[in-house]
Amino acid sequence: MRILIVEDEVKTLNYLKKGLTEHGYVVDMAEDGIEGLYLAENNDYELIILDIMLPKIDGWTVLQKLRQTKQTPVLFLSARDTLDDRVKGLELGADDYLIKPFAFSELLARMRSILRRGHVQQTEVMEIANLKIDLLKHKVYRNDKHIDLTPKEFSLLSLLARREGEVLSRTLIAEQVWDMNFDSDTNIIDVAIRRLRQKVDSGCDDKLIHTIRGVGYVLEKRSE
Ligand code: CA
Repeated sequence: MRILIVEDEVKTLNYLKKGLTEHGYVVDMAEDGIEGLYLAENNDYELIILDIMLPKIDGWTVLQKLRQTKQTPVLFLSARDTLDDRVKGLELGADDYLIKPFAFSELLARMRSILRRGHVQQTEVMEIANLKIDLLKHKVYRNDKHIDLTPKEFSLLSLLARREGEVLSRTLIAEQVWDMNFDSDTNIIDVAIRRLRQKVDSGCDDKLIHTIRGVGYVLEKRSE
């Protein structure tokens, strides 16, 4: 889950980045409207958290310009709290509006609700063979047995599951889950896959996570 935060207040920005990362999101950040719009137009985010009062161009303008090309869900974040502002935000095509200061749990709840009804068509529970992934509760079960995963392992598994049957390269996995460009360090991904396999596949006859030598990894149910 890749999220963009556009916010010029560094304290808020870091607080959000830390919290969302802990919840398994991959977070990009921009500190002004121009940079935010550029990132939003050139990447595919599941959601954009957009401040209104921003340097260079404000959040309204960012949203207005973005809507000419993209329908990425937007959650406005603002210290302004007048009815006019809210209406303006929603008319411009924002998906929700949150007033600062806010509780992190409320932000998470609003985000989840946007993603649930969202343009992304995200399913809440994915089932592949006897593997069950609850995307909202961040829980994973195999054969109805709960599996304890770290946030990164959860992101990795949900990425593989969302693209079931598709071989994913290490580069793609690195970008989507670790938010890094792939260079020489393939090791992180291989180690993470190995750990994920131990948790998800060990003790099961029907393995789901497979290595495609020289290419990458795929999650699929294979008939014996
Ligand atoms: Ca601001």
